Amino acid sequence: MSTFSLDPGPDQLAVRDWLHGFAADVMRPAAAEWDEREETPWPVIQEAAKLGIYSLDFYAQQFFDPSGVGIPIAMEELFWGDAGLGLAITGTTLAAVAVLANGTDEQIGTWAPQMFGTPEDVKLAAFCSSEPDAGSDVSALRTRAVYDEAKDEWVINGTKTWATNGGIAHVHVVVATVDPELGARGQASFVVPPGTPGLSQGQKFKKHGIRASHTAEVVLDGVRVPGSCLLGGKEKLDERLARAREGARKGGKNAAMATFEASRPAVGAQAIGIARAAYEVALDYAKTRVQFGRPIIDNQGVAFQLADMKTRIDAARLLVWRASWMAATNQPFTSAEGSMSKLYAGETAKYVTSQAMQLLGGNGFTREYPVERMHRDSAIYTVFEGTSEIQRLVIARAISGMPIR
Ligand SMILES: Cc1cc2nc3c(=O)[nH]c(=O)nc-3n(C[C@H](O)[C@H](O)[C@H](O)COP(=O)(O)OP(=O)(O)OC[C@H]3O[C@@H](n4cnc5c(N)ncnc54)[C@H](O)[C@@H]3O)c2cc1C
Repeated sequence: MSTFSLDPGPDQLAVRDWLHGFAADVMRPAAAEWDEREETPWPVIQEAAKLGIYSLDFYAQQFFDPSGVGIPIAMEELFWGDAGLGLAITGTTLAAVAVLANGTDEQIGTWAPQMFGTPEDVKLAAFCSSEPDAGSDVSALRTRAVYDEAKDEWVINGTKTWATNGGIAHVHVVVATVDPELGARGQASFVVPPGTPGLSQGQKFKKHGIRASHTAEVVLDGVRVPGSCLLGGKEKLDERLARAREGARKGGKNAAMATFEASRPAVGAQAIGIARAAYEVALDYAKTRVQFGRPIIDNQGVAFQLADMKTRIDAARLLVWRASWMAATNQPFTSAEGSMSKLYAGETAKYVTSQAMQLLGGNGFTREYPVERMHRDSAIYTVFEGTSEIQRLVIARAISGMPIR
């Protein structure tokens, strides 16, 4: 009997339907307002927390789904509701995944629950890696963490930028360099606990899209955190640095690569949610808008556009599900399949939302219809979590084995 199947199981379908209800009933009606206000949509996050959608338990359950598709299904549904609100609800998971991937059991137990708070007292978390001079080139981070052995504390100095939830988060996870000579392999991640002196928010960015999600600079000025805030612990870091020094001489690979490959499909799934939402609006519109005495979809030129949109969305989903399944079942990403899925899904969201605007004519250009917002929101999906160019670079290196620049 064949074991191959693309059918989500009953549990996954139940989660999908539950989230779809939340996306349709709570997110959709609130989306335009929060996009205009460009503020953190606390009432929506609180409602998600009350229902258990914004909770550590929920994400942990999806994260550990053995098929791998729990997270992509959840992301697609929430971002079908709205991308700005979706990121406001899921932005914390970036920091949570960093703790899950790098932290000890004790650190996970201490920090992961604090990142979400409780339904009565909701909290957010932020993952701070990017810097003004280190975006695509993560090896160029300047934020420095220095160990103060006498006090068993780390002292962190630097400026982070583009941090989702930066400055408004309860818990910040900060990537800093501990040995600049080792580039990306000389870096470590630190938890900065709530209320730590020296951490402050810099400018909050006014953005083109996903405007309900808070994005800001984070300034770290003499921030002191206990030794226990180094994710993974000092012993493991020292071993890793020793291996990296050895690896540097042998030209070894960056261990962080595998983690990125595994998390990228989730971001691809968000892009698919936006694309599917815009496609549905365009399909309905094309069937009902009458010009020259017939619905515009009666024109092959229009119908074929919709056929291409739907085909690309489904292809993107298949790539995302494949990469998610590979990550969950520990298959090696020999062709950078995680990057492939994010690249294709991000580009698809931009393509589909742009086509949808065109199909809606003048209405597509107004804020009376949601496709212009979806188009603005989609634009970030070829930029964050690795730009499309960086995904191509990663794929090209993986398939060729060459140090392509
Ligand atoms: C809304 C938003 C939210 C974000 N959230 C977070 C967050 O929570 N935490 C965080 O740490 N970061 C976050 N980021 C940062 C994001 O990951 C970076 O913006 C992204 O990695 C690109 O870096 P950059 O903006 O410095 O662009 P650059 O790296 O300067 O790139 C500029 C252009 O050059 C191209 N380019 C660069 N190098 C190459 C190359 N080798 N080959 C070909 N082309 C190249 C890029 O593809 C791009 O088109 C966020 C960004 C935004 C806008």
